[in-house]
Amino acid sequence: MAEKVVIIGSGPAGWTAAIYTARANLEPLVFEGAVTEENRLKGTTPLGQLNLTTEVENFPTWPHVDSSVLQAFAKSALPADRYGNLAGLYEGKHAHKGKRAAFGPEQMEFVRQQAVNFGTRIVTEDIVRVDFSRRPFKLWSSGNQEVEAQAVIIATGARANYLGLPSEDRFKNNGVSACAVCDGALPRFRNRGLVVIGGGDSAVEEATYLTKFASTVYLVHRRDALRASKIMQQRALSNPKITIKWNRSLEEVLGNDEDGVTGVRLKSTVDNTREELEVSGVFLAIGHTPNTDFLKGQIQCDEKGYIVWTKPHRTYTNVEGVFAAGDVADSHYRQAVTAAGSGCMAGLDAERWLAEKGLV
Ligand code: NAP
Repeated sequence: MAEKVVIIGSGPAGWTAAIYTARANLEPLVFEGAVTEENRLKGTTPLGQLNLTTEVENFPTWPHVDSSVLQAFAKSALPADRYGNLAGLYEGKHAHKGKRAAFGPEQMEFVRQQAVNFGTRIVTEDIVRVDFSRRPFKLWSSGNQEVEAQAVIIATGARANYLGLPSEDRFKNNGVSACAVCDGALPRFRNRGLVVIGGGDSAVEEATYLTKFASTVYLVHRRDALRASKIMQQRALSNPKITIKWNRSLEEVLGNDEDGVTGVRLKSTVDNTREELEVSGVFLAIGHTPNTDFLKGQIQCDEKGYIVWTKPHRTYTNVEGVFAAGDVADSHYRQAVTAAGSGCMAGLDAERWLAEKGLV
């Protein structure tokens, strides 16, 4: 029998859509994504981009609080196996002491559990192919499951971009990363120079985070002004461990197979000068690409691959019965709270559409 609603993706948008559709008795089935090395390298593992970040200071509801209070909350809210995913934040060498906002991984475990509590079912696999040409829709998973659905909510988000240099590719996982929070604490990066590429909020956030481990962090930006919000800019400019390299681009990552990354060659974007820096890591923070490859030809996307919302103030797509929520359809705001908001909208849109069609 066809599912009433299938949700693809497990960031703030996917789980919020799950909470709403579960509370509407639609028994949502969420494909949260597969835990694979390929997904880890691409930055598309379950729980989305927020799971790859540290403190989320701008999500309404979480003022700074003692880490031990969040630990008690996590212990009480989550089953033991899911608490285990967070234990390193509270216990052991990397435990956080003192007051802080909730971390991204905490928020995502909490919201996942909220969806589970209302009856959401979860499959830890990717959806790799869909057929939206007829209803019920058909979806195929990375674990060879074939599922039929009356309504689908796509909330697969967007992943971090790389520059596409051959040397960057060569040292991926060997000093080149697009996720400071995932990799920054590795021994190879301790007390060494590191480079972050980009000038937006992510770049500043990653650079600031990496100062915990590095001797110096070079923030390499192609222009002479940061795109990041004012508060983040101030953090970068006032941090003595961050040196901003204005008007520079990354020309080549230097290194060898044994040591991985040993340096970078930067090129000026205003003249022909070049310089080399001795660093053990390169972190990319240059924007995102929507995760829509599996939808090729099935749904209307814009020139950058973002799903197009076809009705003002609704999460409708050009395929009736298919809704989109979060970063996969939003190249403009791209915030955790706007993703959650559009996940709520998609849940309500799906519920009302299913009722109108007499499908539930
Ligand atoms: P972003 O705002 O799009 O910034 C990307 C940065 O990378 C820009 O500075 C851009 O340079 C640079 N860039 C892009 N392509 C490049 C290339 N090929 N070579 C060199 N540099 C390149 O992306 P983001 O920082 O990931 O932020 C995305 C969204 O998430 C934003 O809305 C941001 O506010 C939000 N966010 C918020 C927080 C927070 O509030 N704590 C944290 C992270 C992200 P130009 O400036 O020259 O275009």
